[in-house]
Amino acid sequence: MALIVHKYGGTSMGSTERIRNVARRVAKWARAGRRMVVVPSAMSGETNRLLALAKELQPDLPDAASLREIDAIAATGEQVSVGLLALALHREGVPAVSYAGWQVPVQTDSAFGKARIGHIEGARVRADLDAGKVVIVTGFQGLDPQGNVTTLGRGGSDTSAVAVAAALGADECLIYTDVDGVYTTDPRIVPEARRLHTISFEEMLEMASLGSKVLQIRSVEFAGKYRVPTRVLSSFTPWDIPLDEEARSGTLITFEEDEKMEQAVVSGIAFNRDEAKITILGVPDKPGIAFQILGPVADANIDIDVIIQNVSRDGRTDFSFTVHRNDYARTMELLKGQVAPAIGATELLGDPKICKVSIVGIGMRSHVGVASRMFRTLSEEGINIQMISTSEIKTSVVIDEKYMELAVRALHKAFDLELDKAVGSV
Ligand code: ASP
Ligand code: MG
Repeated sequence: MALIVHKYGGTSMGSTERIRNVARRVAKWARAGRRMVVVPSAMSGETNRLLALAKELQPDLPDAASLREIDAIAATGEQVSVGLLALALHREGVPAVSYAGWQVPVQTDSAFGKARIGHIEGARVRADLDAGKVVIVTGFQGLDPQGNVTTLGRGGSDTSAVAVAAALGADECLIYTDVDGVYTTDPRIVPEARRLHTISFEEMLEMASLGSKVLQIRSVEFAGKYRVPTRVLSSFTPWDIPLDEEARSGTLITFEEDEKMEQAVVSGIAFNRDEAKITILGVPDKPGIAFQILGPVADANIDIDVIIQNVSRDGRTDFSFTVHRNDYARTMELLKGQVAPAIGATELLGDPKICKVSIVGIGMRSHVGVASRMFRTLSEEGINIQMISTSEIKTSVVIDEKYMELAVRALHKAFDLELDKAVGSV
């Protein structure tokens, strides 16, 4: 009998009425003969409420001891959800049992607030499944080696669900969420954007890291590492739609490249307005300079994204990189105060009004000229490219923020993304 994991987000769990609908949907799957494990998030707004309470009593930067307590507090949201969902399933006449992460247990490291799952003990869950029960496991939380409750970071229930599916060898992990799948780009910007029937795991990883917020990126990493077939689908369809139809809906993350032989070269366009660009001019071109500039930035816990260093003239070069916009002011201060004077740079320039637009597709591996088509499209629109970065399956450009929508629309069209070329589409 197929083993299926369902994950429901906070919106789906947002009220007792909605929880009743989740129970009905899960009951439909259980009655159709599936072995079911369900991983819900906290009711919508609950994690925020809990964290705000903690902040009232501990407004400062929390120390290690406080971080432990904040995780214990935040984890309670999911504990309430699993119990409520079990009650709702009982009322549907479906045997069900709920577990908190520590009861399973879901073993994690001790990084409170962003713990990583190491191992999930499957025995207890399997015994319940064998006894014909639906098993409900909390998302978002786990247990560290010292027996402390931990949480996995915001949006962490996605990762819990995929990890549980991996540990149990589930046939599929279905992530029910408030979008009905993964799109070629954001439909709010390009109305012709199309839902993808499938997306390769690597493309999904790029899309998630480039700022498409459908899944927590760690859940995608997990799905890839353990090859868990994972599907993103809508939680807004009526609970009683035919199971076959539901099972084929949404977007399936796949692992077999040849399954998608006729797939488009580019699968999606991602964009990110959260970055800012910093340029240091007249940097002496000698060994150790990149480290002297970026070392202090990294030490201040600031993530660096795109980096460019030009060829030098007269022994001096220019060095540009991007950071998250929230870190922009802090980075500029750091550079102005210590770094630029220490290395003898001539000038420091900053531009917070930039954005990054990326084309993503595993087809880029086997097709030439993809990046140049991107550059031609942007030039035809008169958009100046400030920085370029590439990986095997992605090309990103940094451009002026005010051209972002224009760039995304033009690229969507240039790569024919509005046309459905999927194989075996439904
Ligand atoms: N409840 C947690 C959050 O709000 C985890 C999740 O929803 O995935 O971030
Ligand atoms: Mg989420």
